[in-house]
Amino acid sequence: MTPTTAGAQAPAENPFQNAIEQFDAVAEKLGLDDGMRQVLRHCKREFTVNFPVQMDDGSIRVFTGYRVHHNEARGPVKGGLRYSLNVSLDEVRALSMWMTWKCAVTGLPYGGAKGGVIVDPRALSRRELERLTRRFAAEIGLLIGPDQDVPAPDMGTDGQVMAWIMDTYSMMHGHSVPAVVTGKPVTIGGSSGRVEATGRGVLFITQQACAQIGMSLEGARVAIQGFGNVGSIAAKLITEAGGKVVAVSDSKGAIYAPDGLGDIGELIARTRSQGFIPDGHLGKHITNQELLELPVDILIPAALEGQIHGGNAAKVQARMIIEAANGPTTPEADRILAAKGVYVVPDILANAGGVIVSYFEWVQDLQSFFWEEDEVNVKLKRIIERAFGEVAAIQAEAGGTMREAAYMLAVQRVVEATQVRGIFP
Ligand code: NAD
Repeated sequence: MTPTTAGAQAPAENPFQNAIEQFDAVAEKLGLDDGMRQVLRHCKREFTVNFPVQMDDGSIRVFTGYRVHHNEARGPVKGGLRYSLNVSLDEVRALSMWMTWKCAVTGLPYGGAKGGVIVDPRALSRRELERLTRRFAAEIGLLIGPDQDVPAPDMGTDGQVMAWIMDTYSMMHGHSVPAVVTGKPVTIGGSSGRVEATGRGVLFITQQACAQIGMSLEGARVAIQGFGNVGSIAAKLITEAGGKVVAVSDSKGAIYAPDGLGDIGELIARTRSQGFIPDGHLGKHITNQELLELPVDILIPAALEGQIHGGNAAKVQARMIIEAANGPTTPEADRILAAKGVYVVPDILANAGGVIVSYFEWVQDLQSFFWEEDEVNVKLKRIIERAFGEVAAIQAEAGGTMREAAYMLAVQRVVEATQVRGIFP
Protein backbone atom coordinates (compact mmCIF):
# COMPACT_ATOMS: atom_id res chain seq x y z
CA MET A 1 0.00 0.00 0.00
CA THR A 2 1.22 3.48 -0.82
CA PRO A 3 -1.19 5.74 1.05
CA THR A 4 -2.25 8.98 -0.49
CA THR A 5 -1.26 12.10 1.37
CA ALA A 6 -2.95 15.28 2.42
CA GLY A 7 -2.54 17.83 -0.29
CA ALA A 8 -2.68 15.30 -3.12
CA GLN A 9 -4.00 17.06 -6.18
CA ALA A 10 -7.81 16.82 -6.29
CA PRO A 11 -9.37 15.67 -9.55
CA ALA A 12 -10.38 18.71 -11.56
CA GLU A 13 -13.81 17.47 -12.59
CA ASN A 14 -16.66 15.53 -11.04
CA PRO A 15 -15.93 11.86 -11.85
CA PHE A 16 -19.59 10.83 -11.70
CA GLN A 17 -20.54 13.47 -14.26
CA ASN A 18 -17.79 12.06 -16.48
CA ALA A 19 -19.03 8.49 -15.95
CA ILE A 20 -22.58 9.53 -16.87
CA GLU A 21 -21.34 11.39 -19.94
CA GLN A 22 -19.42 8.29 -21.10
CA PHE A 23 -22.52 6.13 -20.55
CA ASP A 24 -24.88 8.57 -22.28
CA ALA A 25 -22.72 8.63 -25.42
CA VAL A 26 -22.90 4.84 -25.70
CA ALA A 27 -26.60 4.67 -24.77
CA GLU A 28 -27.20 6.94 -27.75
CA LYS A 29 -25.13 4.74 -30.06
CA LEU A 30 -26.95 1.63 -28.85
CA GLY A 31 -30.32 3.35 -29.16
CA LEU A 32 -31.35 2.45 -25.59
CA ASP A 33 -34.84 3.47 -24.55
CA ASP A 34 -35.32 6.08 -21.85
CA GLY A 35 -36.32 3.59 -19.15
CA MET A 36 -33.16 1.53 -19.58
CA ARG A 37 -31.05 4.69 -19.60
CA GLN A 38 -32.64 5.75 -16.30
CA VAL A 39 -31.91 2.35 -14.73
CA LEU A 40 -28.26 2.37 -15.76
CA ARG A 41 -27.58 6.03 -14.99
CA HIS A 42 -28.48 5.47 -11.32
CA CYS A 43 -26.62 3.61 -8.60
CA LYS A 44 -28.95 1.07 -7.05
CA ARG A 45 -27.81 1.46 -3.43
CA GLU A 46 -25.83 4.24 -1.78
CA PHE A 47 -24.81 3.73 1.81
CA THR A 48 -23.14 6.48 3.87
CA VAL A 49 -21.78 5.85 7.35
CA ASN A 50 -20.38 8.30 9.88
CA PHE A 51 -18.59 6.22 12.49
CA PRO A 52 -16.44 6.92 15.55
CA VAL A 53 -12.90 5.61 16.03
CA GLN A 54 -10.93 5.82 19.23
CA MET A 55 -7.48 7.23 18.50
CA ASP A 56 -4.31 6.15 20.32
CA ASP A 57 -4.39 9.23 22.57
CA GLY A 58 -7.90 8.30 23.79
CA SER A 59 -9.71 10.96 21.75
CA ILE A 60 -12.60 10.08 19.45
CA ARG A 61 -12.80 11.03 15.78
CA VAL A 62 -15.73 10.54 13.44
CA PHE A 63 -14.94 9.33 9.91
CA THR A 64 -17.22 9.18 6.87
CA GLY A 65 -17.32 6.15 4.58
CA TYR A 66 -19.39 4.95 1.65
CA ARG A 67 -20.38 1.71 -0.05
CA VAL A 68 -22.25 2.07 -3.33
CA HIS A 69 -23.78 -0.67 -5.51
CA HIS A 70 -24.28 0.51 -9.06
CA ASN A 71 -25.93 -2.51 -10.68
CA GLU A 72 -26.34 -6.19 -9.83
CA ALA A 73 -28.09 -7.51 -12.95
CA ARG A 74 -25.17 -9.80 -13.80
CA GLY A 75 -24.42 -11.15 -10.31
CA PRO A 76 -23.18 -10.21 -6.84
CA VAL A 77 -21.46 -6.84 -6.81
CA LYS A 78 -17.69 -6.44 -6.74
CA GLY A 79 -15.40 -3.48 -6.23
CA GLY A 80 -12.57 -2.03 -4.20
CA LEU A 81 -12.33 0.07 -1.06
CA ARG A 82 -10.37 3.30 -1.22
CA TYR A 83 -8.82 5.19 1.71
CA SER A 84 -8.03 8.74 0.66
CA LEU A 85 -8.83 12.34 1.55
CA ASN A 86 -10.19 12.73 -2.00
CA VAL A 87 -12.96 10.16 -1.47
CA SER A 88 -16.45 11.58 -2.04
CA LEU A 89 -19.86 10.09 -2.73
CA ASP A 90 -19.64 11.12 -6.40
CA GLU A 91 -16.21 9.54 -6.75
CA VAL A 92 -17.50 6.26 -5.27
CA ARG A 93 -20.58 6.38 -7.52
CA ALA A 94 -18.38 6.78 -10.60
CA LEU A 95 -16.04 4.02 -9.55
CA SER A 96 -18.98 1.66 -8.89
CA MET A 97 -20.45 2.35 -12.33
CA TRP A 98 -17.06 1.70 -13.96
CA MET A 99 -16.91 -1.62 -12.05
CA THR A 100 -20.23 -2.67 -13.62
CA TRP A 101 -18.82 -2.07 -17.10
CA LYS A 102 -15.46 -3.66 -16.24
CA CYS A 103 -17.03 -6.90 -15.02
CA ALA A 104 -19.31 -6.98 -18.06
CA VAL A 105 -16.59 -6.31 -20.65
CA THR A 106 -14.48 -9.14 -19.23
CA GLY A 107 -17.49 -11.47 -18.90
CA LEU A 108 -17.21 -11.90 -15.11
CA PRO A 109 -20.48 -12.84 -13.35
CA TYR A 110 -20.56 -9.69 -11.22
CA GLY A 111 -22.21 -6.31 -10.94
CA GLY A 112 -20.36 -3.16 -9.89
CA ALA A 113 -19.69 -1.65 -6.47
CA LYS A 114 -17.13 0.57 -4.79
CA GLY A 115 -16.47 1.98 -1.35
CA GLY A 116 -14.19 4.30 0.48
CA VAL A 117 -13.40 6.20 3.63
CA ILE A 118 -12.33 9.85 3.77
CA VAL A 119 -9.04 9.38 5.55
CA ASP A 120 -5.32 9.76 5.00
CA PRO A 121 -4.18 6.29 6.05
CA ARG A 122 -0.60 7.50 6.38
CA ALA A 123 -1.66 9.88 9.15
CA LEU A 124 -2.94 6.99 11.33
CA SER A 125 -0.97 4.51 13.45
CA ARG A 126 -1.32 0.83 12.54
CA ARG A 127 -3.64 0.25 15.52
CA GLU A 128 -5.80 3.25 14.53
CA LEU A 129 -5.97 1.97 10.95
CA GLU A 130 -7.05 -1.45 12.22
CA ARG A 131 -9.75 0.02 14.49
CA LEU A 132 -11.03 2.25 11.67
CA THR A 133 -11.11 -0.70 9.25
CA ARG A 134 -12.86 -3.05 11.67
CA ARG A 135 -15.49 -0.47 12.58
CA PHE A 136 -16.09 0.39 8.91
CA ALA A 137 -16.33 -3.35 8.10
CA ALA A 138 -18.93 -3.76 10.85
CA GLU A 139 -20.90 -0.77 9.53
CA ILE A 140 -20.96 -2.04 5.93
CA GLY A 141 -21.49 -5.60 7.21
CA LEU A 142 -25.16 -5.01 6.39
CA LEU A 143 -24.27 -4.99 2.70
CA ILE A 144 -21.21 -7.17 2.17
CA GLY A 145 -21.08 -10.97 1.92
CA PRO A 146 -19.81 -13.66 -0.47
CA ASP A 147 -23.17 -13.88 -2.26
CA GLN A 148 -23.93 -10.18 -2.39
CA ASP A 149 -20.98 -7.80 -2.26
CA VAL A 150 -17.27 -8.68 -2.24
CA PRO A 151 -14.81 -5.79 -1.58
CA ALA A 152 -11.14 -5.73 -2.63
CA PRO A 153 -8.14 -3.40 -2.26
CA ASP A 154 -7.90 -0.06 -4.07
CA MET A 155 -5.90 3.12 -3.46
CA GLY A 156 -4.72 3.35 0.13
CA THR A 157 -5.80 -0.18 1.10
CA ASP A 158 -4.00 -3.52 0.81
CA GLY A 159 -4.03 -7.18 1.82
CA GLN A 160 -3.74 -6.35 5.53
CA VAL A 161 -6.85 -4.16 5.37
CA MET A 162 -8.69 -6.99 3.58
CA ALA A 163 -7.55 -9.43 6.30
CA TRP A 164 -9.04 -7.19 9.03
CA ILE A 165 -12.31 -6.95 7.10
CA MET A 166 -12.43 -10.72 6.57
CA ASP A 167 -11.74 -11.31 10.27
CA THR A 168 -14.33 -8.76 11.43
CA TYR A 169 -17.02 -10.20 9.15
CA SER A 170 -16.10 -13.74 10.26
CA MET A 171 -16.36 -12.77 13.95
CA MET A 172 -19.81 -11.29 13.30
CA HIS A 173 -20.94 -14.57 11.68
CA GLY A 174 -19.30 -17.04 14.05
CA HIS A 175 -17.22 -18.80 11.41
CA SER A 176 -14.50 -17.97 8.88
CA VAL A 177 -15.82 -16.47 5.65
CA PRO A 178 -12.79 -16.02 3.36
CA ALA A 179 -14.91 -15.31 0.24
CA VAL A 180 -16.26 -12.03 1.72
CA VAL A 181 -13.25 -10.09 0.36
CA THR A 182 -10.56 -10.64 -2.25
CA GLY A 183 -6.98 -9.40 -2.31
CA LYS A 184 -6.37 -11.14 1.04
CA PRO A 185 -2.99 -12.58 2.05
CA VAL A 186 -2.51 -16.11 0.68
CA THR A 187 -2.35 -17.55 4.23
CA ILE A 188 -6.05 -16.81 4.80
CA GLY A 189 -7.45 -17.74 1.40
CA GLY A 190 -5.93 -15.19 -0.94
CA SER A 191 -5.01 -16.19 -4.47
CA SER A 192 -1.49 -16.59 -5.74
CA GLY A 193 -0.86 -13.83 -8.25
CA ARG A 194 -3.54 -11.41 -6.94
CA VAL A 195 -1.09 -8.74 -5.72
CA GLU A 196 0.52 -8.56 -9.17
CA ALA A 197 -2.70 -9.15 -11.14
CA THR A 198 -3.64 -5.58 -12.10
CA GLY A 199 -0.07 -4.74 -13.17
CA ARG A 200 0.20 -8.06 -15.02
CA GLY A 201 -3.06 -7.35 -16.82
CA VAL A 202 -1.67 -3.92 -17.77
CA LEU A 203 1.34 -5.70 -19.32
CA PHE A 204 -0.85 -8.13 -21.30
CA ILE A 205 -3.02 -5.27 -22.55
CA THR A 206 0.03 -3.16 -23.46
CA GLN A 207 1.41 -6.07 -25.50
CA GLN A 208 -1.93 -6.52 -27.27
CA ALA A 209 -2.23 -2.80 -27.95
CA CYS A 210 1.34 -2.63 -29.33
CA ALA A 211 0.57 -5.52 -31.68
CA GLN A 212 -2.67 -3.81 -32.71
CA ILE A 213 -0.98 -0.61 -33.87
CA GLY A 214 2.29 -2.17 -34.99
CA MET A 215 4.46 -0.67 -32.25
CA SER A 216 7.28 -2.67 -30.68
CA LEU A 217 7.30 -2.80 -26.88
CA GLU A 218 11.03 -3.60 -27.06
CA GLY A 219 12.76 -0.31 -26.28
CA ALA A 220 9.50 1.68 -26.15
CA ARG A 221 9.74 4.64 -23.75
CA VAL A 222 7.14 4.39 -20.99
CA ALA A 223 6.05 6.98 -18.39
CA ILE A 224 3.96 5.84 -15.42
CA GLN A 225 2.00 8.16 -13.12
CA GLY A 226 1.50 6.54 -9.70
CA PHE A 227 3.97 4.05 -8.24
CA GLY A 228 1.80 2.06 -5.83
CA ASN A 229 0.53 -1.47 -6.28
CA VAL A 230 -0.54 -1.07 -9.90
CA GLY A 231 2.07 1.39 -11.22
CA SER A 232 5.11 -0.27 -9.64
CA ILE A 233 4.21 -3.83 -10.72
CA ALA A 234 3.35 -2.63 -14.23
CA ALA A 235 6.74 -0.84 -14.36
CA LYS A 236 8.56 -4.02 -13.33
CA LEU A 237 6.75 -6.35 -15.72
CA ILE A 238 6.93 -3.94 -18.67
CA THR A 239 10.69 -3.57 -18.09
CA GLU A 240 11.07 -7.36 -18.02
CA ALA A 241 9.15 -7.49 -21.30
CA GLY A 242 11.62 -5.09 -22.98
CA GLY A 243 9.97 -1.69 -22.40
CA LYS A 244 12.08 1.22 -21.12
CA VAL A 245 10.50 2.95 -18.13
CA VAL A 246 11.80 6.53 -18.26
CA ALA A 247 9.57 8.24 -15.65
CA VAL A 248 7.51 7.33 -12.59
CA SER A 249 5.74 9.45 -10.00
CA ASP A 250 3.87 9.48 -6.73
CA SER A 251 1.86 12.16 -4.97
CA LYS A 252 5.05 14.10 -4.19
CA GLY A 253 6.29 14.35 -7.78
CA ALA A 254 8.08 12.48 -10.55
CA ILE A 255 11.54 11.41 -11.66
CA TYR A 256 12.60 11.28 -15.31
CA ALA A 257 15.64 9.74 -16.99
CA PRO A 258 15.37 9.72 -20.80
CA ASP A 259 17.62 6.63 -21.05
CA GLY A 260 15.64 4.65 -18.47
CA LEU A 261 15.38 4.56 -14.68
CA GLY A 262 17.60 1.49 -14.32
CA ASP A 263 16.84 -1.25 -11.83
CA ILE A 264 13.07 -1.02 -11.25
CA GLY A 265 13.13 -3.77 -8.60
CA GLU A 266 15.58 -1.71 -6.56
CA LEU A 267 13.47 1.43 -7.07
CA ILE A 268 10.36 -0.41 -5.84
CA ALA A 269 12.18 -1.73 -2.76
CA ARG A 270 13.48 1.74 -1.85
CA THR A 271 10.07 3.34 -2.49
CA ARG A 272 8.37 0.80 -0.24
CA SER A 273 10.86 1.19 2.57
CA GLN A 274 10.76 5.03 2.49
CA GLY A 275 7.06 5.42 1.65
CA PHE A 276 7.79 7.58 -1.41
CA ILE A 277 9.98 7.56 -4.53
CA PRO A 278 13.54 8.20 -3.34
CA ASP A 279 15.61 11.27 -4.10
CA GLY A 280 19.00 10.65 -5.61
CA HIS A 281 20.70 10.41 -8.91
CA LEU A 282 18.17 8.15 -10.63
CA GLY A 283 16.70 10.92 -12.70
CA LYS A 284 15.68 14.54 -12.93
CA HIS A 285 12.85 15.72 -10.68
CA ILE A 286 9.78 16.88 -12.59
CA THR A 287 6.14 17.46 -11.66
CA ASN A 288 3.28 15.01 -12.19
CA GLN A 289 1.96 17.43 -14.78
CA GLU A 290 5.25 17.35 -16.71
CA LEU A 291 5.29 13.54 -16.61
CA LEU A 292 2.00 13.41 -18.52
CA GLU A 293 3.48 15.57 -21.29
CA LEU A 294 6.83 13.78 -21.76
CA PRO A 295 8.07 12.65 -25.20
CA VAL A 296 7.31 8.95 -24.65
CA ASP A 297 5.73 6.15 -26.66
CA ILE A 298 3.43 4.87 -23.93
CA LEU A 299 1.83 6.79 -21.06
CA ILE A 300 0.35 4.80 -18.17
CA PRO A 301 -1.71 6.80 -15.67
CA ALA A 302 -1.88 4.62 -12.53
CA ALA A 303 -3.02 7.04 -9.80
CA LEU A 304 -6.13 9.21 -9.67
CA GLU A 305 -9.06 9.97 -11.96
CA GLY A 306 -9.29 13.17 -14.02
CA GLN A 307 -5.53 13.55 -14.59
CA ILE A 308 -5.70 13.97 -18.38
CA HIS A 309 -8.23 16.71 -19.03
CA GLY A 310 -9.18 19.48 -21.43
CA GLY A 311 -6.31 21.62 -20.16
CA ASN A 312 -3.45 19.23 -20.86
CA ALA A 313 -4.65 16.58 -23.36
CA ALA A 314 -3.34 18.54 -26.35
CA LYS A 315 0.14 18.47 -24.79
CA VAL A 316 0.26 14.66 -24.42
CA GLN A 317 3.03 13.39 -26.70
CA ALA A 318 2.58 9.64 -26.13
CA ARG A 319 1.28 7.56 -29.04
CA MET A 320 -0.56 5.25 -26.70
CA ILE A 321 -2.25 5.61 -23.29
CA ILE A 322 -2.94 2.52 -21.20
CA GLU A 323 -5.39 3.50 -18.44
CA ALA A 324 -4.19 1.56 -15.41
CA ALA A 325 -6.00 4.01 -13.10
CA ASN A 326 -9.78 4.26 -13.05
CA GLY A 327 -11.13 7.28 -14.91
CA PRO A 328 -7.81 9.06 -15.58
CA THR A 329 -9.08 10.69 -18.81
CA THR A 330 -12.04 13.07 -18.91
CA PRO A 331 -14.51 12.95 -21.83
CA GLU A 332 -13.21 16.30 -23.09
CA ALA A 333 -9.64 14.96 -23.09
CA ASP A 334 -10.86 11.83 -24.87
CA ARG A 335 -12.12 13.93 -27.76
CA ILE A 336 -8.83 15.85 -27.99
CA LEU A 337 -6.76 12.64 -27.87
CA ALA A 338 -8.93 10.96 -30.50
CA ALA A 339 -8.50 13.96 -32.81
CA LYS A 340 -4.72 13.76 -32.29
CA GLY A 341 -4.76 10.03 -33.11
CA VAL A 342 -3.58 8.89 -29.66
CA TYR A 343 -4.55 5.26 -29.10
CA VAL A 344 -6.24 4.97 -25.68
CA VAL A 345 -7.00 1.62 -24.06
CA PRO A 346 -9.77 2.38 -21.55
CA ASP A 347 -9.61 1.63 -17.84
CA ILE A 348 -12.45 -0.91 -17.87
CA LEU A 349 -10.26 -3.10 -20.08
CA ALA A 350 -6.70 -2.02 -19.21
CA ASN A 351 -6.90 -2.49 -15.43
CA ALA A 352 -9.30 -5.45 -15.37
CA GLY A 353 -6.53 -7.88 -14.36
CA GLY A 354 -7.24 -7.11 -10.70
CA VAL A 355 -10.92 -8.00 -10.76
CA ILE A 356 -10.28 -11.04 -12.97
CA VAL A 357 -7.92 -12.55 -10.41
CA SER A 358 -10.25 -11.40 -7.61
CA TYR A 359 -12.87 -13.52 -9.34
CA PHE A 360 -10.44 -16.46 -9.33
CA GLU A 361 -9.82 -15.86 -5.61
CA TRP A 362 -13.54 -15.86 -4.84
CA VAL A 363 -14.04 -19.09 -6.84
CA GLN A 364 -11.11 -20.74 -5.03
CA ASP A 365 -12.47 -19.64 -1.63
CA LEU A 366 -15.95 -20.96 -2.39
CA GLN A 367 -14.47 -24.32 -3.44
CA SER A 368 -11.67 -24.38 -0.82
CA PHE A 369 -9.44 -25.56 -3.62
CA PHE A 370 -6.43 -23.45 -4.54
CA TRP A 371 -4.56 -23.05 -7.80
CA GLU A 372 -0.87 -22.69 -8.63
CA GLU A 373 0.26 -19.21 -9.67
CA ASP A 374 1.04 -20.42 -13.21
CA GLU A 375 -2.57 -21.48 -13.62
CA VAL A 376 -3.81 -18.11 -12.35
CA ASN A 377 -1.58 -16.18 -14.77
CA VAL A 378 -2.48 -18.35 -17.76
CA LYS A 379 -6.22 -17.95 -17.07
CA LEU A 380 -5.80 -14.19 -16.50
CA LYS A 381 -4.01 -13.86 -19.85
CA ARG A 382 -6.71 -15.84 -21.64
CA ILE A 383 -9.62 -13.79 -20.24
CA ILE A 384 -8.06 -10.35 -20.64
CA GLU A 385 -6.79 -11.09 -24.16
CA ARG A 386 -10.18 -12.43 -25.16
CA ALA A 387 -11.83 -9.23 -23.89
CA PHE A 388 -9.26 -7.11 -25.76
CA GLY A 389 -9.96 -9.10 -28.96
CA GLU A 390 -13.72 -8.67 -28.60
CA VAL A 391 -13.38 -4.93 -28.05
CA ALA A 392 -10.91 -4.51 -30.91
CA ALA A 393 -13.29 -6.40 -33.23
CA ILE A 394 -16.15 -4.05 -32.33
CA GLN A 395 -13.90 -1.04 -32.89
CA ALA A 396 -12.82 -2.40 -36.27
CA GLU A 397 -16.45 -2.80 -37.30
CA ALA A 398 -18.12 0.21 -35.69
CA GLY A 399 -15.21 2.68 -35.82
CA GLY A 400 -14.71 5.19 -32.99
CA THR A 401 -12.41 4.72 -30.02
CA MET A 402 -11.52 1.65 -27.97
CA ARG A 403 -13.46 3.21 -25.07
CA GLU A 404 -16.61 3.48 -27.14
CA ALA A 405 -16.17 -0.12 -28.34
CA ALA A 406 -15.56 -1.41 -24.79
CA TYR A 407 -18.62 0.48 -23.51
CA MET A 408 -20.78 -0.84 -26.32
CA LEU A 409 -19.87 -4.42 -25.42
CA ALA A 410 -20.21 -3.88 -21.66
CA VAL A 411 -23.42 -1.86 -21.65
CA GLN A 412 -25.05 -4.26 -24.11
CA ARG A 413 -24.29 -7.20 -21.77
CA VAL A 414 -25.79 -5.38 -18.77
CA VAL A 415 -28.84 -4.38 -20.82
CA GLU A 416 -29.38 -8.01 -21.88
CA ALA A 417 -29.14 -9.23 -18.27
CA THR A 418 -31.58 -6.55 -17.13
CA GLN A 419 -34.04 -7.36 -19.92
CA VAL A 420 -33.97 -11.12 -19.45
CA ARG A 421 -34.46 -10.77 -15.66
CA GLY A 422 -37.24 -8.24 -16.13
CA ILE A 423 -38.26 -5.41 -13.83
CA PHE A 424 -39.44 -6.63 -10.41
CA PRO A 425 -42.27 -7.10 -9.46
P1 NAD B 1 -1.89 2.60 -4.32
O1 NAD B 1 -2.44 3.28 -3.14
O2 NAD B 1 -1.12 1.34 -4.14
O3 NAD B 1 -0.93 3.62 -5.15
C1 NAD B 1 -1.37 4.87 -5.61
C2 NAD B 1 -0.19 5.65 -6.17
O4 NAD B 1 -0.67 6.90 -6.71
C3 NAD B 1 0.85 6.00 -5.13
O5 NAD B 1 2.15 5.94 -5.71
C4 NAD B 1 0.49 7.45 -4.78
O6 NAD B 1 1.58 8.17 -4.23
C5 NAD B 1 0.12 7.94 -6.14
N1 NAD B 1 -0.65 9.19 -6.11
C6 NAD B 1 -1.63 9.57 -5.26
N2 NAD B 1 -2.05 10.80 -5.56
C7 NAD B 1 -1.36 11.20 -6.65
C8 NAD B 1 -1.32 12.38 -7.42
N3 NAD B 1 -2.11 13.42 -7.13
N4 NAD B 1 -0.46 12.45 -8.45
C9 NAD B 1 0.34 11.40 -8.74
N5 NAD B 1 0.36 10.27 -8.04
C10 NAD B 1 -0.46 10.17 -7.01
O7 NAD B 1 -3.11 2.39 -5.31
P2 NAD B 1 -3.27 1.32 -6.48
O8 NAD B 1 -3.97 0.13 -5.93
O9 NAD B 1 -1.98 1.17 -7.19
O10 NAD B 1 -4.34 2.07 -7.41
C11 NAD B 1 -3.94 3.01 -8.41
C12 NAD B 1 -5.05 3.20 -9.42
O11 NAD B 1 -5.34 1.92 -10.03
C13 NAD B 1 -6.38 3.69 -8.88
O12 NAD B 1 -7.02 4.48 -9.85
C14 NAD B 1 -7.17 2.41 -8.67
O13 NAD B 1 -8.56 2.63 -8.66
C15 NAD B 1 -6.73 1.65 -9.89
N6 NAD B 1 -6.92 0.19 -9.80
C16 NAD B 1 -6.36 -0.53 -8.80
C17 NAD B 1 -6.54 -1.91 -8.76
C18 NAD B 1 -5.89 -2.78 -7.72
O14 NAD B 1 -5.98 -4.02 -7.85
N7 NAD B 1 -5.21 -2.23 -6.71
C19 NAD B 1 -7.32 -2.54 -9.74
C20 NAD B 1 -7.87 -1.77 -10.77
C21 NAD B 1 -7.66 -0.40 -10.79
